[in-house]
Amino acid sequence: MPDQAKAQDSLTITVVFDNYEYKQGLETSWGFACVIQGMEDTLLFDTGADGDILLRNMEKMNLDPQQIESLVISHDHWDHTGGLQAFLGQNDRVDLYLLDSFSQDLDANERFPNLKAHRSLESRKICEHVYTTGKMGSRIAEQSLIIDTSKGLIVITGCAHPGIVDIVKQAKTLLSKQIFLVMGGFHLRDKNDTEIADIIQNFQSLGVNYVGASHCTGDKAIKAFANTYKERAIDLGVGQVIRIDDLQ
Ligand SMILES: [Zn+2]
Ligand SMILES: [Zn+2]
Repeated sequence: MPDQAKAQDSLTITVVFDNYEYKQGLETSWGFACVIQGMEDTLLFDTGADGDILLRNMEKMNLDPQQIESLVISHDHWDHTGGLQAFLGQNDRVDLYLLDSFSQDLDANERFPNLKAHRSLESRKICEHVYTTGKMGSRIAEQSLIIDTSKGLIVITGCAHPGIVDIVKQAKTLLSKQIFLVMGGFHLRDKNDTEIADIIQNFQSLGVNYVGASHCTGDKAIKAFANTYKERAIDLGVGQVIRIDDLQ
């Protein structure tokens, strides 16, 4: 128990790929990826659209690809899988978590003999306190990441094609805990003001404490979340480092 608390205290999530800029000197491009440190495994969630940009951004932020132990891909869209091959070229000694329905090209391992690919449709445990939601969505299959912290659950999404509210509900159902932070792409670009207001209302009734909306969320929805969540809306973009310790 003390060990568990200690590990979670230093939990840090760094956005290494995003179409929004948070910190100057890093490259922006369409897509999303973040590195999670401070859990049992060091994780990479998604890989953005371009491996060169991903690796250059990681290098500038002193994140060594060799440190990554587990890699979770949210869904089989180029803006989340595009950096995968380049990343594996640097470090193929990883556990790679895919949904069954993703393209076989993603984990074809002739080039990457050390790669351990895991395909599944169900929710699964990646390491202590870190889980996937399992497959959601019928048209575009997607999984999200759930980190179980002493402050509540952190949900990280790629594009949230299955619906951001449904993903949050799924995380809550799977682990029966409060939601501390929801972050990533929320895919609300085509929603109107009323629909966005309704989604934010849902976040509040689900007890979501902090929000970090980025990537494909859309400027209008990002602004609306910021207006409602105020200091609990985390400005996401490439270079943002979220230290869970710093959040109340
Ligand atoms: Zn997508
Ligand atoms: Zn996307």
